[in-house]
Amino acid sequence: MSKKKMSLITKIMIGLILGVFVGLFFVSSPKIATTYIKPIGTLFLNLIKMTIVPLVFSSLVVGAASIGDVKKLGRIGGKTMIYFFVTTAVAIVIGLSLANIFKPGAGIPLVSSTPQKVTEAPSLIQTLLDIVPTNPIDALAKGNMLQIIFFALFSGVGAVYIGEKGEPYLKFCDSLAEIMYKLTEVIMNLAPYGVFALIVPVIAENGPKVLIPLIKVIGVCYAGFILHSIIAYSFSVKMFSKISIKEFFKGTSTPTAIAFSTSSSSGTLPITIKTVRESFGVSEGIASFVLPLGTTINMDGTAIYQGVCAVFIAQAYGIPLTLGQQATILLTALLASIGTAGVPGAGFMMLMMVLSSVGLPLEGAALIAGIDRVLDMGRTAVNVTGNVAASIVVSASEKELDYTKATIKQSKSNIGV
Ligand code: ASP
Repeated sequence: MSKKKMSLITKIMIGLILGVFVGLFFVSSPKIATTYIKPIGTLFLNLIKMTIVPLVFSSLVVGAASIGDVKKLGRIGGKTMIYFFVTTAVAIVIGLSLANIFKPGAGIPLVSSTPQKVTEAPSLIQTLLDIVPTNPIDALAKGNMLQIIFFALFSGVGAVYIGEKGEPYLKFCDSLAEIMYKLTEVIMNLAPYGVFALIVPVIAENGPKVLIPLIKVIGVCYAGFILHSIIAYSFSVKMFSKISIKEFFKGTSTPTAIAFSTSSSSGTLPITIKTVRESFGVSEGIASFVLPLGTTINMDGTAIYQGVCAVFIAQAYGIPLTLGQQATILLTALLASIGTAGVPGAGFMMLMMVLSSVGLPLEGAALIAGIDRVLDMGRTAVNVTGNVAASIVVSASEKELDYTKATIKQSKSNIGV
């Protein structure tokens, strides 16, 4: 083997392909795979899970604090948040609908190894009530994500309201978030081995049948990504500005390509800011407010992915999802997208939270783990495109879109579609 550095994605792909072959080799004796190889995958999953609670909590406090600066926010903040929420909700609906229509997980005879609780799903009212933690420490200890998110948002805004006294808290959370991002990066280096160890027992236990539906999941996710970009972004951009759909995608192509190849919307942020200002003429103030905020809390690609994957896993395990449960997925994925960090693989961690919100088997995520990087590239590209669109729409609605500075052409009319 050459000692030349191989990119992580190449390594993960090798881990995945190797895992498939080794798994096929063990089809006749899956016990060896589950006894000796599966624990390595479990270790990888545990490492990921280790970072979930601190990561979600700290990044959300920081995110909420940036929203909580009331003077800076004003009208722009309100508009931005509405755009984020509406587009993300549309994204999840698209994801859920496509997964329900194309049924990528149908016909995979997977049986959860942990006894599946056939408990009735809590009602929507109960789910909403449960979002408010009566004891936030208990919520953190138990890893109750919805409650953690709720508390993080409130405490972040509270910290801003008390001003100077709140600063140490925000600094601490910022530092904790940075540490968790770093850990995520380190853990991602183990992904090739983790992916290998996760996919081997899956293939060994279930045979090659599971791979075909995985191709379907990739197809359904990407169909959602494309559909959402067309429906939500280009149309809203065209409606609010003089930028045509073609010019929008042309102008966005650089940050989208960087996002696709790095799988990190945070890593793409400087390029995104530069692009919206230079290509579209978004004002500096709006670009520097909307984009960092969006990179923290606006993740439409991730939301589509979570919707598709949750339904896929339910179908693969033959667990029917009620409309209420799908509404819970919508709500959880909406909140999860706020807590997802703009780093590679963060959406996968949040998928666990979405799965647990409706009692779906967490090991179903092992199926996704093997193809996650491929999905991550697409969803990050959508996340970044969404933020570009948001900055254009908000800037245009504030009459702060300076067409004279834009390098891309504008269409003659700005009639909505
Ligand atoms: N990698 C994505 C991003 O940076 C987040 C995710 O994993 O969904 O936007």
